[in-house]
Amino acid sequence: MAEPGKVDMDKIASLVKRRGFLFQSSEIYGGLASCWDYGPLGVELKNNIKREWWKTNVQQRDDIVGLDASILMHPDVWVASGHVGGFVDPMVDCKDCRKRWRSDHLNGDKCPECGGEVTEPRMFNLMLKTFLGPVEDSAHQVYMRPETAQGIFVNFTNVLNVTRKKLPFGIAQIGKAFRNEITPGNLTFRTREFEMMEIEYFVKPGTDKELHQKWLDARLQWYVDLGINRDHVQLRKHGDDELAHYAQGCYDVEYLFPMGWMELEGIANRSDFDLSQHASASGKELSYFDDESGEHITPYVIEPSAGVDRSALAFLTDAYHEELDDKGDLRVMLKLHPKLAPIKVAILPLSKKETLSPLAREIYATVRDEFMTQYDDTQSIGKRYRRQDEIGTPICVTVDFNSLEDKQVTLRDRDSMKQIRVPIAELVAVLTAKLNSEPF
Ligand code: ATP
Repeated sequence: MAEPGKVDMDKIASLVKRRGFLFQSSEIYGGLASCWDYGPLGVELKNNIKREWWKTNVQQRDDIVGLDASILMHPDVWVASGHVGGFVDPMVDCKDCRKRWRSDHLNGDKCPECGGEVTEPRMFNLMLKTFLGPVEDSAHQVYMRPETAQGIFVNFTNVLNVTRKKLPFGIAQIGKAFRNEITPGNLTFRTREFEMMEIEYFVKPGTDKELHQKWLDARLQWYVDLGINRDHVQLRKHGDDELAHYAQGCYDVEYLFPMGWMELEGIANRSDFDLSQHASASGKELSYFDDESGEHITPYVIEPSAGVDRSALAFLTDAYHEELDDKGDLRVMLKLHPKLAPIKVAILPLSKKETLSPLAREIYATVRDEFMTQYDDTQSIGKRYRRQDEIGTPICVTVDFNSLEDKQVTLRDRDSMKQIRVPIAELVAVLTAKLNSEPF
């Protein structure tokens, strides 16, 4: 039996592949290493995570606005940002088995696979390159962005001018990023193409430490509010040796993955480094007029930078539960928060008979207008409940022969398996309340 926090990654991998959360990219061609496609349930989960993040950080706040910058940017952006010169990982090769490793991930100087001797570390730039236009020479080379943040910095003045925001204010963005990782792996934990959710929160110098702390608390709480066990997330302060020279402080939100405590999100106080760098490299003013002092200042920035795919993996891992039912059969469940569950409601007619299906279909048509809903009339009701438990559907609605007479249906709660009878006329209202955590 899997204990929370001690779930085997193989079990998660098996479930997500079996139930269509994840497929290997280009599978029919043998796959492309460390690239993943999200299947019908995976895309729902990912969309729900992104929607919740946007709702908390943009929709429900007056001080943050959104942006969707392009993936390809002027190559000079990456020189000014420091990525061309410094976005590197130290790489070593095993002299025996030829496996490649990030030397800062090794404990010692031997190959973790075969124990062989490894080469001296060489620095390897993680940015992926491509070319714009038909000529493939260095003048036409551009980078696939390794983070979304730079799209925010270069638009600082554009956004400020159109929104007239006062400090502190933030710009939020969700989008794809690419890194030519040396050692991708652990399912979607580290891949070469992934999605980020980033905020650049601009603040007056001097207020940065206090606001940094607020972001640490807020971001940790976000994961807990969406169902992650509080004991499975922690903040880790970066040591001085990990900090960039300009950074005033950095913390990681870590999650207790099956392979140990690993970064879920980085939250850095980046001082005025980015805006200053782009201002001097572009020759354009990237500053803020401070009414109080009557001076132009370059704001400091707090950067909560999270990964969509890593969050999805953490939410799935934390939601994975196994228990034995009354008959001693194994019940596998994803106890996903209703806000994240790919399917919110399943409509299950007790039988396929024609007497029942018109009513069940009618109910389905009404419910699917409000929530992501699945209709399933195959196999026994017990098997259908199990299938929904395994993909995390919080509520099943059973339509039986009595429903034709009393115009009521049975609601079944995923976690407690409690059942209640509800008038069809009140179904949408009851589902709304239950999905918003009203107890069964
Ligand atoms: P690591 O030390 O794990 O390589 P990092 O410190 O370079 O990560 P950041 O640059 O802080 O990562 O990226 C912010 C977030 O983006 C990470 O916390 C993670 O959730 C996500 N992320 C970064 N790289 C990857 C990747 N290769 N695959 C999936 N998600 C990633």
